[in-house]
Amino acid sequence: MVDSYRHKGMRKKLVESIRGKGISNESILDAINKIPRHLFLDSSFLEFAYDDTPFPIGSGQTISQPYTVAFQTEILDVSKGHKVLEIGSGSGYQACVLEEMGAKVYSIERQKKLYQKTKEFISSLGYKIRFFYGDGNKGIPSFAPYDRILITAAAPEISDELLQQLKPGGKLVAPIGTGDVQTMIRITKQSDNNIIKENFGAFRFVPMLRNKADD
Ligand code: SAH
Repeated sequence: MVDSYRHKGMRKKLVESIRGKGISNESILDAINKIPRHLFLDSSFLEFAYDDTPFPIGSGQTISQPYTVAFQTEILDVSKGHKVLEIGSGSGYQACVLEEMGAKVYSIERQKKLYQKTKEFISSLGYKIRFFYGDGNKGIPSFAPYDRILITAAAPEISDELLQQLKPGGKLVAPIGTGDVQTMIRITKQSDNNIIKENFGAFRFVPMLRNKADD
């Protein structure tokens, strides 16, 4: 698992390109500058690891575009020490960004093979992310409540279970929609009966599915 000067140089360029697209939170840019994204992709895609594009990671799933990771993280408004629940672990890259920012990360994935592969790989990099296998619509009640919840698959709606697992004052970010294109939304839970919803434009994600896969 080599992280060469060449990789580091490519990463710097990626960071500058994301900055150029409007991301200004330095702790997000620092995290992207640190994490060896090329190790998260199949070796045949190594040359493209630091392009600002999404990529296949096996089991029919994708690692999100770096800009999208940065954008979701920015509007999630994460601080050091926050307890964050991520739905859709995928490659584990987004979870590493959150941990680099000082968050305590819980991440759930419904594809068993991907869950196993990611859990093993991420711990080999030295991250302490807690990975779970299951349906993210149900959240992880045993570790609730969370300061932040981040959904990284296209969700038709936000389940009540997830909203209940958000602390008062907590925020949830998700791409909402059933078609090819979703709307990025942020929900701020002021209290149980005072919920603010904001829209942040169009994005494309793989769908969030109900229940566990039978793989
Ligand atoms: N955050 C990931 C990218 C996620 S792609 C990364 O950084 O690489 C979306 C992921 O959500 C896929 O891995 C998909 O299997 C998963 N997913 C889809 N529906 C889900 C559900 N109901 N619960 C948990 N994970 C789900």
